[in-house]
Amino acid sequence: MPSLTLGDFELSIFSDGTYPLDGGAFFGVVPKVMWSRKVTADERNYVQAGLNSLLIRTGKQTVLVETGMGNKLSERMIKFYGQPAKLLANLSAAGIAPEDIDIVINTHLHFDHCGWNTVRGKDGKIAPTFPRAKYYAPEGEWQYARRPSERDAISYISENYDQLVESGQMTLLKGGEQIVPGISVKTFPGHTAHMQAVIVESRGRTACYISDLIPTTAHIDLTWGMSFDLYPLQTIESKKQYYAKAIPEKWLTVFTHDPKVPWAFVEKDDAGKMVASSA
Ligand SMILES: [Zn+2]
Repeated sequence: MPSLTLGDFELSIFSDGTYPLDGGAFFGVVPKVMWSRKVTADERNYVQAGLNSLLIRTGKQTVLVETGMGNKLSERMIKFYGQPAKLLANLSAAGIAPEDIDIVINTHLHFDHCGWNTVRGKDGKIAPTFPRAKYYAPEGEWQYARRPSERDAISYISENYDQLVESGQMTLLKGGEQIVPGISVKTFPGHTAHMQAVIVESRGRTACYISDLIPTTAHIDLTWGMSFDLYPLQTIESKKQYYAKAIPEKWLTVFTHDPKVPWAFVEKDDAGKMVASSA
């Protein structure tokens, strides 16, 4: 499990496993002759995507950003994506029980980002996986999730959040809020209209869970967006906005779907090309 210290905070990556995604869909309009230099596809053109959650120990709270794909997928979705469901076992191997999590933050509500928010009990009832945690998610995402477009309706599974909102365990965010000192959210539209990145700051150092705006190190170029993005031109604008701060201020970028490099510093090389430099 990769870990590092950021000021007073301890950051660790916990994976829910990897899953197959169509390489063409993953890289949008980028031709395969280009993306296949960075990632390998199998004979069906699938590439491996990671499911990286970020655990932050502030000294006072234990905060989990994203909860992977979970274990409640339908048979049909399991056919496409498998269902690795490794997050709880990986947390447990590091001595972290569900009761230890104080705060859960979802950047958006696609099924591969909030799947372990809840579990289905033997009685068939849905219950929070992290019983003591306060959950947070973008309000605009939740509103959208109630009436998604035909294009992305498959990505929203009500069991992952609706009950938490109803019971009051999940707080909906406008964007810009501080969750606890040093941890705040900021809206970066593009992948969806309301996706929020999680910004972590301690003692002058900053890390950012940029989520599906820059899902892997292979997506750091401005024009390398996923075809899943609902607003591709907005993705480019949001990336520009992000790099304008993240590059000069040397933010550590956390990559939600990179199966090999969960975090890195994005830099501009001498030719003006974006490159990932290891953390
Ligand atoms: Zn997404």
